[in-house]
Amino acid sequence: MTNAKVGFIYAHPDDETFGCASLIRELADQGGEPVLLCATRGDAGKTGRLGEMTREELAVLREQELRTAGDIMGLSVIHHLGYPDGKLKDVPRAELVEHIVHFIQSHQLAVVVTFPEDGVSGHLDHIAIHHATNEAIFSGRCPSVQKLYYNAPFEVRNSGEGVTLKIQVEPHWKMKAAALRAHQSQVFSVERVFGDLEQMPNQAWAKEEVFMLAWERGTHWPKKQEATIYDDLI
Ligand SMILES: [Zn+2]
Repeated sequence: MTNAKVGFIYAHPDDETFGCASLIRELADQGGEPVLLCATRGDAGKTGRLGEMTREELAVLREQELRTAGDIMGLSVIHHLGYPDGKLKDVPRAELVEHIVHFIQSHQLAVVVTFPEDGVSGHLDHIAIHHATNEAIFSGRCPSVQKLYYNAPFEVRNSGEGVTLKIQVEPHWKMKAAALRAHQSQVFSVERVFGDLEQMPNQAWAKEEVFMLAWERGTHWPKKQEATIYDDLI
């Protein structure tokens, strides 16, 4: 069922690469044309080893970095909402939901992937995206959507409880490392999480991208394990 569209909804340029690069690449390799909605400009982040720059300069750079990473991963479309980094919790929820509904409808997405309730890292922008995406889909205004996935939070990855889908990173590591490298301004957080990228880190969290199926055609938390994100689509 590779003509079903999968969309990723995240807060900052790089969120998609950290958590989903291998999944995105697999979808693209299967002809799936994955799409991304990125809500902020990432302009409050660090600049890595690139030295000082204004927020505007950083925003422009991070958009370019995301475009480069997106080409490496095989994203077919990247939409930017252009909100200031760190301010998503101040955006009226209804406004954010409206943008997400529009994104989902315009691509007729069958599957949506976003942050879990804790945002993985606890970042408030991530958590705002989680709630707005839930609201968009649970409102009934996105009838094309059949399944909603979250990146698994750390405790879920550790326990394995509630894990639906695992994507092996190893076959894609060179690609994922290149996409991570494309986020040059974020080199410090990339190195903190993944090391120097020359080799895939040996820890379990680096070897798999792990997802939980939160909702499937009206059922919350269907307990199942899947081989691919296309399983059981109608
Ligand atoms: Zn982020």
